[in-house]
Amino acid sequence: MKRIPGLVQRCLKIIYCLWIGLWIMAGMQCNSKELSVDDFTFEGPLGSQGASMEKIGTNHFQVTLGHAPEHPDWSNKLQFRILRHAKGNDLRLDVVFHGGDAYIFNEYFYSWSYDGINWHPIQWQKKSKRSAEGDTLIFPVFEEDVVFVGHQVPLSYEDLLALIERWKQHPCVNVHEIGESLGKRMIHRITITDPDGIHPGNERWVHYFANQHPGEHNAQWRMAAMIDWLLSEEAREDVRRSICHFVIMMSPDAPSHGWYRVNAQGVDMNRSYFAAGSDAEKQAHEAYLCQKDLELLMASDAPVTDVWSMHTWGGIVEPICIPGPEMGKEVGSWEKLKEILIKNDTQNLIKPLKTDTDEGNLTYWTDGPHRQFGVTTFLCEGAGALYTKQENLDSGVVIIKSLMEYYKGTKTK
Ligand SMILES: [Zn+2]
Repeated sequence: MKRIPGLVQRCLKIIYCLWIGLWIMAGMQCNSKELSVDDFTFEGPLGSQGASMEKIGTNHFQVTLGHAPEHPDWSNKLQFRILRHAKGNDLRLDVVFHGGDAYIFNEYFYSWSYDGINWHPIQWQKKSKRSAEGDTLIFPVFEEDVVFVGHQVPLSYEDLLALIERWKQHPCVNVHEIGESLGKRMIHRITITDPDGIHPGNERWVHYFANQHPGEHNAQWRMAAMIDWLLSEEAREDVRRSICHFVIMMSPDAPSHGWYRVNAQGVDMNRSYFAAGSDAEKQAHEAYLCQKDLELLMASDAPVTDVWSMHTWGGIVEPICIPGPEMGKEVGSWEKLKEILIKNDTQNLIKPLKTDTDEGNLTYWTDGPHRQFGVTTFLCEGAGALYTKQENLDSGVVIIKSLMEYYKGTKTK
């Protein structure tokens, strides 16, 4: 009698184990609908023109990238969406470009996201210097079905429109439509100033920030943070004595194509300035619109004091200044700004400010405006090593805060 319950117990144990085993296998079956090429798209707000994909194995694909307009040797950036079925799957992407090694696709980190808002950085496996050798991204097992992937911390044109919609609710914001890109997207200049301050426009310090290379998204987030800071309570007095202009996307057709440096004409947007004056016939379309707009500002009763060209290259943020006449006179030497930046940069996001001359290339948006108008210009590079949106936002806050501290008071006192 004693042995029977033992036998029953053992049988029950075996049945239980079998049941658990089957249940786990069934669960795996449900989640293991592996990814197929049809689940991916290289089109949409963050896209990659000319990219193609083939399946190598389970959740393992090879992507061959396309090239920038007029530049068969410049790879587009890898940007895509997984439309469905990502949940429960991991992903290995072998990426290759056969056109050459100019502006190689794996120079910077990329990011992935379930919602296009909260981004997670992902690094290349090999960091190879040869496009034709290719490189690999290995993603973790996804927990959602839809996944976005883009360059640096991505910002699509549609994301920018949503930000502008939010900013323009504020009474200190004015949004100017500079003109349409060749792809019929509006280029915006966002102006921040408090119209109710006691100082007329011609007495206010005027700062102008623009991003030329459209794939350098970290630079765009740096600028977005500057705007948010200027609209915060902390900057309430500053916006009464200053005017800040922002052109966050000079080449708005780029994010949906994965273009890194160019517009639809294939012009490198930071080789697009005409120091002798804007030229509707010869200049890249969007560069002409933006330079013409800057020239109108310079001719207004509130001309720009300093022009910032916002970029990303390797390392932390790296500002380089070509000093104009107010430095060393009204506002003190450029070294004073350097000290203020160091003091405010408690997270070490920014290299110490240094100076340059305009001897480099007058088609840059630093050397060009300095030569044309004689104003202070800044090349603000770096941040390729800032892998999160928050770090890029924080770096922007340090810069705008420091600028407000350095350009204190007004032009007249
Ligand atoms: Zn750049």
